[in-house]
Amino acid sequence: MSRAVYPGSFDPFTNGHLDITERGASIFDELIVAVLVNDSKRAMFSVNERCMMAREAAVHLPNVKVMSFEGLLVDFMRQEQSRVILRGLRAISDFEYEFQLAQMNKQLAPETETFFLVTDAKYSYLSSRSVKEVFKFGGSIKDFVPPGVFRRMRERIPQRQ
Ligand code: ADP
Repeated sequence: MSRAVYPGSFDPFTNGHLDITERGASIFDELIVAVLVNDSKRAMFSVNERCMMAREAAVHLPNVKVMSFEGLLVDFMRQEQSRVILRGLRAISDFEYEFQLAQMNKQLAPETETFFLVTDAKYSYLSSRSVKEVFKFGGSIKDFVPPGVFRRMRERIPQRQ
């Protein structure tokens, strides 16, 4: 049985993340969306909120589980008995960071393999950061995030689209 882990901050979970999750779920028997408890990045949503939004978005995918993790990804992978790290690649700008991360994880845990899915062209411009920026300045984010995320962001600032 193949079990992959798709790690990230998911602050918040976007349609780009959902696309990678759906495609990953169609390849692997089980997919764990692993939400990082990150102290260094100032997150808009708490880890519980980020997990809930991801869970809601992936409710139609029975082989997807959403969990939070703290500390080293490779420790989480061992704990969950998974060898496959799934990541998404948007542009060449993602590549350098992702390449470094994959090499580091390989060094720390040689049994792990990082699999990359290339973004669907329609999500190539989409990031959690850009969604938060657009939202902050009053632009509509409806087309960029799953409905549950849209609802929760609007609850934060009700007059926003
Ligand atoms: P992190 O906080 O780990 O940098 P994110 O939570 O922003 O990452 O994203 C998690 C993973 O999803 C990363 O591999 C990132 O490249 C990928 N990703 C983010 N947005 C998209 C998108 N629009 N299309 C494809 N992959 C994406």
